[in-house]
Amino acid sequence: MIKLHDLQFVPFIAEDEIATAIDRVSDQLNKELSDKKPLFIGVLNGAFMFVSEVVKRFNYDCEVSFVKFSSYEGTKTTHEVKELIGLNEKLTGRTVVVLEDIIDTGNTIALLSETLKDKGCSDVKIATLFFKPEAYTKEINIDYIGFEIPNKFIVGYGLDYDGLGRNLTQVYQLKSNNMTNLVLFGPPGAGKGTQAEVLKQKYDLVHISTGDVFRYNIKNATDLGTLAKSYIDKGQLVPDEVTINMLNAEVDKNPNAKGFIFDGFPRTEAQADSLSELLTSKGTEVSAMVALEVDDEVLVQRLLERGKTSGRADDADEGVIRNRIKVYYDETAILKNYYQKHDKYFGVDGVGAIEEITERLSSTIDKL
Ligand code: AMP
Repeated sequence: MIKLHDLQFVPFIAEDEIATAIDRVSDQLNKELSDKKPLFIGVLNGAFMFVSEVVKRFNYDCEVSFVKFSSYEGTKTTHEVKELIGLNEKLTGRTVVVLEDIIDTGNTIALLSETLKDKGCSDVKIATLFFKPEAYTKEINIDYIGFEIPNKFIVGYGLDYDGLGRNLTQVYQLKSNNMTNLVLFGPPGAGKGTQAEVLKQKYDLVHISTGDVFRYNIKNATDLGTLAKSYIDKGQLVPDEVTINMLNAEVDKNPNAKGFIFDGFPRTEAQADSLSELLTSKGTEVSAMVALEVDDEVLVQRLLERGKTSGRADDADEGVIRNRIKVYYDETAILKNYYQKHDKYFGVDGVGAIEEITERLSSTIDKL
């Protein structure tokens, strides 16, 4: 994810995909215009990268030039006036290829194409790296198209947002903020992990379990794992700073996620504040805390049972299990109030068959 001015953008089209599309367009140009000595006219500013890549791939004689539309407010009128500057070549009888970075409504390209024909070009071809069919309002045929894209705001590879982003080597789209972000809550052994696996498929969300990330790090003997192990083995919480940094890094690994299931996070108010900050910076927020409610004695039995096969040291010892439940009530349960204050807390009975519990969670989530 990147930020330009006040807006956030997520990756949309990778550098190698752009190169492949330009290869394809250039192959067509080489085939069709080999003996035409075309004049390539790039439309500034956005097309500079596209022009450079296209002409590098053109294997025959050609010329290259640029034009620019300067917009200004007329002195006597408030209407925007567009003036074409830079068109100095003799055009009579020539084959011209206009190179555009993006065509949306088609207003600019229609004006330019008309001007070029008026100046006597025998053939005017139009090539664009990006084309938005949904926005296009003109009849003129676009001869060469790199990508047809939905009507989204994009930046990078020459395209800007208020001046910034032209130097980016891949294309980004404006981040939308209609994500579903669930905090799956409940004491240890409530079944958060099991339900998260089902819900992530059902709602196409990314599941982040802080416990799983810690265990992965312990298994791979990373510095983070070594640090976390001393706390986890006693059933205590890993310090906030460590956990928060790790969670932020996991979220950043998934810039295109439709939303997240946070499982085992937040567990403290500092973590809840930090999650809220992180999601705000991405133009989104926690949609709801859905909590699995399960009686303590049921939890202890479940975890002891799980400990027989899970290989988790913190499931094998009843003392550690009871400490984890105690930590939950001492430090974590306050988060119920935190989300209740914002009408975002939804308690769900966590006892019963897995499918039944999924059903209960889904009916809550579907109402969000
Ligand atoms: P879990 O798999 O969620 O039961 O987590 C196992 C252990 O990892 C916990 O008992 C804590 O020691 C540690 N842990 C997991 N998530 C967090 C968190 N959000 N904050 C602090 N420690 C955590």
